[in-house]
Amino acid sequence: MKYKEKIKAFWQWILKAANWLMKPIIEDFNFFLVMWFINCGVTFGYLVGCFYLDGNNWDHGLRCLALGTFVSYVLTWGLHLCRKRPIRMAYKCIIYFLVVLLEATYIFVNLNFEMGIGARLFTLLAETNESETSEFITTYAFATPSLITYGIVVGIIIVVALTEWLRKWFNKAAHNKVMKVVLTVLLLPFILFGAYYSHNYVRMAICKHSKDLSNWVADFGTNALDNVSSVIYSFSYLNTSHADVAQAIDVAREVYNTPIEVTEADSLNVVMVFGESYIKSHAALYGYEHNTTPYMIKERDRGNLIVFNDMISPYNATSTVQKNFFSLNDMSNNEYWYESPTFPTVFRHAGYKVYIWDMQREYQKTELYTISVNAFLYNDTIAKLSYDEMSSIPFKYDGQMIGDFKNNSKVPPGKHNLYIFHLKGQHVNPSYRYPRGKGFGVFTADSIHRTEEYVTKEVKEYIADYDNATVYNDAVLKAIFDIWRDKNTVVIYLPDHGDEAYDFRDHCGRQGGTRAEADYFHCDNDVPFVVWCSDTFIKKHPELVKQMRAAVDRPGISLDVSIMLLRLGGIKTKYYDASRDISSPSYKPKKRIVYDRYDYDEVINKSKEEKGK
Ligand SMILES: [Zn+2]
Repeated sequence: MKYKEKIKAFWQWILKAANWLMKPIIEDFNFFLVMWFINCGVTFGYLVGCFYLDGNNWDHGLRCLALGTFVSYVLTWGLHLCRKRPIRMAYKCIIYFLVVLLEATYIFVNLNFEMGIGARLFTLLAETNESETSEFITTYAFATPSLITYGIVVGIIIVVALTEWLRKWFNKAAHNKVMKVVLTVLLLPFILFGAYYSHNYVRMAICKHSKDLSNWVADFGTNALDNVSSVIYSFSYLNTSHADVAQAIDVAREVYNTPIEVTEADSLNVVMVFGESYIKSHAALYGYEHNTTPYMIKERDRGNLIVFNDMISPYNATSTVQKNFFSLNDMSNNEYWYESPTFPTVFRHAGYKVYIWDMQREYQKTELYTISVNAFLYNDTIAKLSYDEMSSIPFKYDGQMIGDFKNNSKVPPGKHNLYIFHLKGQHVNPSYRYPRGKGFGVFTADSIHRTEEYVTKEVKEYIADYDNATVYNDAVLKAIFDIWRDKNTVVIYLPDHGDEAYDFRDHCGRQGGTRAEADYFHCDNDVPFVVWCSDTFIKKHPELVKQMRAAVDRPGISLDVSIMLLRLGGIKTKYYDASRDISSPSYKPKKRIVYDRYDYDEVINKSKEEKGK
């Protein structure tokens, strides 16, 4: 009996607690509903997408809904705490205004620029100055998507006003006994779980650098967050980004306090050509059926080009690869790009003249990837410590950029020079990557002899364009070799990552997501990697060249090629680590992790075994 009474008492207590917790919602039901629907609009949209989109998952959507429900609940509690009428009115006005403003912003940027409330928007806002703002307003204020936005916002305001006007009716409905039970059963579990889940904000608030924040994002995801949560995340992103660059600046300054020495007695040119979206299997140099690399093959046969056979890129996103390639950080040691100096900084401290001509500095300047790379590599202080001369204007084709360097570079070369070229390569869409009527349209749809069902005429045209862009890339490399052919010169060519051009499925580009499967890895992560040595360089560095030739079959990870550059430049510095230099006899291959989680070789070997069965 006593036992039963205890249970009954406990149950009474639970009911009381639930009643107390639900009180703010029941008493200001209309306010809660407005908060919930407007603030969690994105989350509801994500949940609807779960029915028909592959990438959306219920688990994540419901967790975010719980968090958004909790946020809406907290806002309603705020109102509940306001007792006096004028204070309640003021609170309502402020919160309605902010919540509607956020939603209006969301709709505006979504319709105009297909982005949401998030890191990109906040970064752009932080970087926008007054004249840009007025230009922006005159450009977009009366654009059709903006007019649609105003219409929707007026609609939202009318709905909010209506629910306020009918608030007594809403209150009455919420006080109904059955309704109370329904609301409690439906909402309370979400609110309680959301309250528990909000500890993630504490985790986010203590993130100092993007290293911590990207772990947070990996665990948590940001694509289904309610508006208020998105704002909180965006501020955290801005903070960590600033902290990253601030540390990168400190690290760059530190370089100039370290001893450094160049062992090369003669003059020397080191040329780093950073390519873009090069699918290794489309290079004749690596066995492709079409001759897409006539010049490179010639250089190889002549003995000037050393071709490495097993190089992979750990990511398929340009900005991630670029930041971690320029930085000398050791990713296998979980070091981030802002924790080590860049190779140009080290070269410049060693007395090299450093030149950088970059096709992508001006490319899609309002995208977060370009912003984040530019904020790092072209930060004023870092640029001053790293380069003697930079390209400043955008170019249509890679060849034009090389021409601009040849004709317009103003800083005279020194004894030792580092030249960096960042190409646009074969980036989607490849048909825009090579000039017409200049002999690069070697292949047409008729040249592509693929027989899969999805390989239509348009697909064949795309593949032919990709191969033509690859032919053009080959000619650009030849133009670079020719500039320094008669000098003591070493040129490295390495693209940031691969790509897809309908190689194994009906898909091109890198937007289709990445799976831990051999076909995906071969396309996106296998990259060509070659070292071109002038005759003089070969003559002057017999041992180094011999060691490079002996290293061509070693497994490598592209981010470590910047370490090898230090050796090629004859630079003695504490930042050089022979165990990461693929050309060094002390090289120690490590586990090759791609996308921070998959063991590349394990996935490839497993697929080979399965095919063997
Ligand atoms: Zn790229």
